[in-house]
Amino acid sequence: MPVLLPYPFPGPFDYAVPPTLTLAPGDIVLVPLNRRQEVGVVWDAPSGPAVADAKLKPVSARLDAPPMPAPLRRLVEWIASYTLSPPGAVLAMALRVNALTPPPMAAGWRRVADAPDVRVADAPDIRVADAPDIRVADAPDVRVPHAPAIRLTPQRTRVLATLGDRIIPSADLARLADVGTSVIRGMADKGLIEPAPVPSVPPFGRPDPAFRTPHFSSAQAEIAAALRAKVAAHTFTVTLLDGVTGSGKTEIYLEAVAACLQSGRQTLILLPEIALSAQFLARFERRFGVAPALWHSDLGSRTRRATWRAVAEGAAQVVVGARSALFLPFPDLGLVIVDEEHETAFKQEDGVVYHARDMAVVRARFSDAPAILVSATPSLETLSNVEAGRYAHLRLQTRHAGASMPAIAAIDMRDAPPPRGKFLSPVLVAAIRASFARGEQAMLFLNRRGYAPLTLCRACGHRLACPNCTAWLVEHRARRELSCHHCGHTAPAPTICPVCAAEGTLAPIGPGVERITEEAAELFPDIRRLVMASDTMPGPHAAAEAARAIEAREVDLLIGTQIVAKGWHFPHLTLVGVVDADLGLAGGDLRAAERTVQLLHQVAGRAGRAEAPGEVKLQTFSPEHPVMQALVSGDLAAFYEAEKAARRPGHWPPYGRLAALIVSAEQAEAADRCARALGLAAPAAPGVEVLGPTPAPLAILRGRHRRRLLLKTRRDIAVQPILLAWLARVEVPRGARVDVDVDPVSFL
Ligand SMILES: [Zn+2]
Ligand SMILES: [Zn+2]
Repeated sequence: MPVLLPYPFPGPFDYAVPPTLTLAPGDIVLVPLNRRQEVGVVWDAPSGPAVADAKLKPVSARLDAPPMPAPLRRLVEWIASYTLSPPGAVLAMALRVNALTPPPMAAGWRRVADAPDVRVADAPDIRVADAPDIRVADAPDVRVPHAPAIRLTPQRTRVLATLGDRIIPSADLARLADVGTSVIRGMADKGLIEPAPVPSVPPFGRPDPAFRTPHFSSAQAEIAAALRAKVAAHTFTVTLLDGVTGSGKTEIYLEAVAACLQSGRQTLILLPEIALSAQFLARFERRFGVAPALWHSDLGSRTRRATWRAVAEGAAQVVVGARSALFLPFPDLGLVIVDEEHETAFKQEDGVVYHARDMAVVRARFSDAPAILVSATPSLETLSNVEAGRYAHLRLQTRHAGASMPAIAAIDMRDAPPPRGKFLSPVLVAAIRASFARGEQAMLFLNRRGYAPLTLCRACGHRLACPNCTAWLVEHRARRELSCHHCGHTAPAPTICPVCAAEGTLAPIGPGVERITEEAAELFPDIRRLVMASDTMPGPHAAAEAARAIEAREVDLLIGTQIVAKGWHFPHLTLVGVVDADLGLAGGDLRAAERTVQLLHQVAGRAGRAEAPGEVKLQTFSPEHPVMQALVSGDLAAFYEAEKAARRPGHWPPYGRLAALIVSAEQAEAADRCARALGLAAPAAPGVEVLGPTPAPLAILRGRHRRRLLLKTRRDIAVQPILLAWLARVEVPRGARVDVDVDPVSFL
């Protein structure tokens, strides 16, 4: 019987089935491999020429775990052949969770039976996309029967509301309820909560499709009905749900989730960055009464195992996850949703290189389920699939009642330059001042972490570079260090130039968010600032707390990198200043313009999401650039048409296919030799073109020298057979490696 092991072997191995075992494809088994016992999955594909049974080692045992469903096995095979990866390497992503054994019992807390019943959900009906904050802090003092009056402080109320009917592990309760552990101890002493063992699988609440149905406009209701019909059809379809920020897309696709719940099947919702999902989860809970199951890399091992099992057993009906959630063993997947489908975060760049949006569509196909791709600024790939009739298209044209689209204007930095050594134009500063004067919030966006992206010696011109990469070191002044954003190398910030030994000549060049924060502090010393960047804001709790503080108007000025762009709803934020709108356009990446439009449109969408109108200022040195023109005019359709027209003739994606070969070696000579050999053996056929070899923009990364070749074909030509034949013609020298990236997103 073939068994696939989670290692990069070319395929499954054959094992004998002992008479005591009955095995079927998908069963998870233990098998001997090189004197060790390994976990593998019984596979259904024939594994090459049959070996006489007598020579086969027997399967050791069948594990007590739900079998891997057929659609997931097909997905593993499909990704392996599409990305030219060994199937075992893909299987590893579905098995590495180490989730096969049920989690052990742990100690937890629950409410005592007669504790006051405080619910987070006791809030009035919501208007779509404009749900009020739900607070539990104002509960009155409550008399608990058989006990003296116990003051229900906001903290205690929060603990009770967090607990609800659940048992929560002791290790998690304080954090989840955002209280100190002394509060928990005090509540136990007063008899409000009591210890209880946590069940092996936490009861994943059943989302209630009728918990709180939304009020839709007729346009919204029409689209919601269309999505419900897709789910009810129980067949594979792909739909692009496209609508401006603030148009209520989330609430509308939650209606498809409701339909899927009613049909008894499971839903997978992929988000680009699960760390930023706090507000999404709150919306989900308001709609369905309970939170969905979560899946991401920061889950504790206990929760991870419990969630994996709950998915496999069907107890978790809705999973919200990062791209790795694709590999969960849903036995009955009825709907796949990819929110912010244009986001590059869906591309996995390490190990098996795959695009989670595209693989989510494949997952849906193998499950006979509809897929819904959601975005305010869809990728050209998805739009071309709409154009070709492969995907359906549902469009929301307007923001929900009461909010209009923000007014976007460019600030020409040549006409209104900032003072020397500063980065904020007087025009932008005046606009920020005005919004503070109106009592509103403002945001400054700069997609660059740290203090300065480059440090230069003013005496000798030396620039501080990473010793392992072709990259400048970024100054992080708060941490007093320089760091490489490509390999993670850090070093203390030097005080003298390492080349000419001059003292005090090292100068920061250009701004990062830290430097903008410093400038804002000088300009507006009295206002309350908050910085949001991935390195200052680790984990979902920090981001959720930041979002809460902004909503609660504890912050006047928000300064952030791209994490502030993602789907947040900040009702009092009316001004967005983009510090360097040209930033993403440098570098000559195929999708630079498309991505800049997507990112800045999304940033702009943070402004004016409630009653007050929003205003967006783009600081740019080229206001005439088509990207700035598209953003200012709001005519994204024209921009998309121009992009398509530019890419179509040369068969650039989405009108052609690309695959990158990245050659790397510790010695530059070996990398060159291998790249040259690949160049000489390059395929030649009509509609097939090879660009390169050339040194990669990151010519050295983590100490390895890198060269790139790009295979470009017409859309009707598959790249995989060409790549396989090409690689077979070339012998990779010792020490060199060739990585394949089908549909590359990064060109570094
Ligand atoms: Zn120097
Ligand atoms: Zn580096």
